[in-house]
Amino acid sequence: MDPLPYGRHWIDEDDIQAVVRTLRSDWLTTGPAVEQFERAFAALTGARHAVAVANGTAALHASMFALGIGPGDEVIVPPLTFAATANCVVYQGATPVFADVAPKTLLLDPERAAEKISPRTKAIIAVDYAGQPCDYDALRKLAEAHRIALVADACHSLGARYKGRPTGTLADLTAFSFHPVKHITTCEGGMITTNNLDFANRTRTFRNHGITTDHRERTQTGTCFYEMRELGYNYRLSDVQCALGISQLRKLPAWVRRRCEIAQQYDRTFAASSTARPLLSGVNVSHAYHLYVVAVGFDRDMLLSKLRKRKIGANVHYIPVHLHPFYRLHYQTKPGLCPVAEEAYRHIVSLPIFPRMTDADVQRVVSAVEEIGTTAAA
Ligand SMILES: *Cc1c(COP(=O)(O)O)cnc(C)c1O
Repeated sequence: MDPLPYGRHWIDEDDIQAVVRTLRSDWLTTGPAVEQFERAFAALTGARHAVAVANGTAALHASMFALGIGPGDEVIVPPLTFAATANCVVYQGATPVFADVAPKTLLLDPERAAEKISPRTKAIIAVDYAGQPCDYDALRKLAEAHRIALVADACHSLGARYKGRPTGTLADLTAFSFHPVKHITTCEGGMITTNNLDFANRTRTFRNHGITTDHRERTQTGTCFYEMRELGYNYRLSDVQCALGISQLRKLPAWVRRRCEIAQQYDRTFAASSTARPLLSGVNVSHAYHLYVVAVGFDRDMLLSKLRKRKIGANVHYIPVHLHPFYRLHYQTKPGLCPVAEEAYRHIVSLPIFPRMTDADVQRVVSAVEEIGTTAAA
């Protein structure tokens, strides 16, 4: 049987043609495709501004910069995420403060976040774990009460909605990733969305060394003058990659629908059998299912290795970030800091989910999990 990975990109001939056309054009980077991709992305999410960057991590870093986060500041982050969510705070010389997740959804728990607010807190980064938007009403209320910013790490949740509103409009700044395993890909790539013009301008400058105008703008206005007012980075996304992004973005709605169908098939089986318990999905949200996560009551690592023998690439998302040696060494974090995330980590498995998966593929995963689970219980 063919190997079945936990996630996989989907590139069609039209994507390839879009890339080839751009390679034959005058602009390989910071040309018309960047602007076009940003416009299409803003239209799709309903955000006023979209700023394309080199990757999702750069989108998070630029968001921290836009908010003026710096040494002495604290930013609240959940532990059950990719390390980049916390790393972006460290890049700016500030301190990530870990607040635990809620047991049934594994999303940042607003009550735990509230407990971690101090006079130094400048922002909260909410992670839409697995593709489900966080409790944005509660988080927004908390942020407003303390006059701090709310950032969404929506690297899992492109195409999701909270109370009918798409991700990209739910926080002051939102970060997306176009890594091949995410909803759409530009090989490497990311996007920031915001309704705040100042934040949009600051992230735009940050992605281009802190320089006020880009090369294309100077060509159009016929001037060579530019100024670097703040320290930025080269976090630009190329025209070639943006051309791929424009082509991929058109397919997003159908792909999110397919991801939801697959999740429903999993949900139905596991509801009937109880070998694996899916995460709770809220009534107010429409989930984008970047990941399909279940918790198992038997030996999780045994399940992973037996699935691997059957060429089924399950995975674990994530080792809680505060348990990584870097954070233990530099921020004195340790086991016990976020008990819910630590307990969940011992039981969770991400099963394969990607739009090109067939119903037969889903059945293959389900049968394997059921068989392994039944044997373990016997
Ligand atoms: C993928 C991801 C990132 C980082 O995105 P890159 O494009 O790989 O830099 C950040 N946060 C979360 C939750 C992610 O899943």
